[in-house]
Amino acid sequence: EAPRLDSAALLARREAHFAKPQKHYYEVPPQIERGWHEFLFDVKGRAYLDMVNNVTMIGHAHPRLTAAIEQQWSRLNTNSRFHYVAVAEFSERLAALAPEGLESVFLVNSGSEANDLAIRLAWAHTGKKNMLCLLEAYHGWTLGSDAVSTSIADNPRALTTRPDWVHPLVAPNTYRGPFRGPDSAADYLAGVTTLLETIDERAEGLAGIIAEPAYGNAGGIALPRGYLAEVYAAIRKRGGLCIADEVQVGYGRLGHHFWGFEQQDVVPDIITIAKGMGNGHPLGAVITRREIAESLEKEGYFFSSSGGSPVGSVVGLTVLDIIKDEGLQENARMIGDHLKVGLIGLMERFPLIGAVHGMGLYLGVEFVRDHETLTPATEATSAICERLLELGVIMQPTGDHLNVLKIKPPLCLSADSADFFVKALERALEDGF
Ligand code: PMP
Repeated sequence: EAPRLDSAALLARREAHFAKPQKHYYEVPPQIERGWHEFLFDVKGRAYLDMVNNVTMIGHAHPRLTAAIEQQWSRLNTNSRFHYVAVAEFSERLAALAPEGLESVFLVNSGSEANDLAIRLAWAHTGKKNMLCLLEAYHGWTLGSDAVSTSIADNPRALTTRPDWVHPLVAPNTYRGPFRGPDSAADYLAGVTTLLETIDERAEGLAGIIAEPAYGNAGGIALPRGYLAEVYAAIRKRGGLCIADEVQVGYGRLGHHFWGFEQQDVVPDIITIAKGMGNGHPLGAVITRREIAESLEKEGYFFSSSGGSPVGSVVGLTVLDIIKDEGLQENARMIGDHLKVGLIGLMERFPLIGAVHGMGLYLGVEFVRDHETLTPATEATSAICERLLELGVIMQPTGDHLNVLKIKPPLCLSADSADFFVKALERALEDGF
């Protein structure tokens, strides 16, 4: 075992060779060495409640997943050009979870890859190029997924550096966008139509839209009621395809729904997933209609060396089994509802809280200086996250103004942990930010 370094020494070592654009949380991060359920433990044995790690759906260090990985690794790992049962079974299970007609599955290794592939599928199927996306969105780091990412918190130059086939729509942010409240869809749609009309005139035509069906990156905000149904209809009228990025909000996290698009009562043409489906093991997938999947053959065959490997497929199957057997979507619904009530309960005492967004275990607490102007309390949000760390909670800001707590813990979160979080936030806010 490597000798233990104190946190500062390890940070210096990390920064020596681990390239700088790969940021870490906190100015002085705790050195984490273990995880269990929704908890992380540092090298001194201190426990932290992990309220931010949406990748770890079933909880940290789940023994059933560990055993499944160990068994499969010790037996066989290879790639999907070989013939074995796990890749067939996992694809079958994913197709069964998707709406009828979405029956073809590509297996890759991350959300970025899944979104890149989804964009390529839209291009290949339509023979067109232009893509709509939303402002304040993040879809990944690879060329295509980065092109449609507009979040200025992730990339301050995002809005001036998008390629010319990318067309961001005004952020349909029902809290602080130009039109507010759940019934603002019609107001946003006028702008969508205008943008589509400008694309109608471009030779490269419209390939489609990519959007999270609940506004994850903005803090779990629900889109205006009926928004996606209208947008999807306008896109489809022009022959475009609709991609739902379910990397963060899908797979049961919303509790009330398995898929985020159910919240908007729509069925996409292409679904992308990753993160939680592997509980941290690199897995991603694209689920689509057969004819869309097969249109990629115009460009040759698709192959990913690790996508759909026996180990990856067994991980994916085991995570799905655990979500089902442990009732984790139901837990996300129950504990998420309970947690949201607790957070809303803090609003009266602490006017810094402008809103509590979201559903299930994807919630966002938005901090503002003024309930009229909605001036974002960005510095306070960062200070609150630092204070929460002292109180034993891992939490980070999100949104273009970095003024929203992104609450997306493992789906096995207990009611006690939810209460602990509310109490810790209350204590932090009592410091008067
Ligand atoms: N889509 C969304 C909505 C995401 O939040 C992320 C990651 N934060 C991605 C795609 C990219 O996933 P990955 O990091 O696995 O490439």
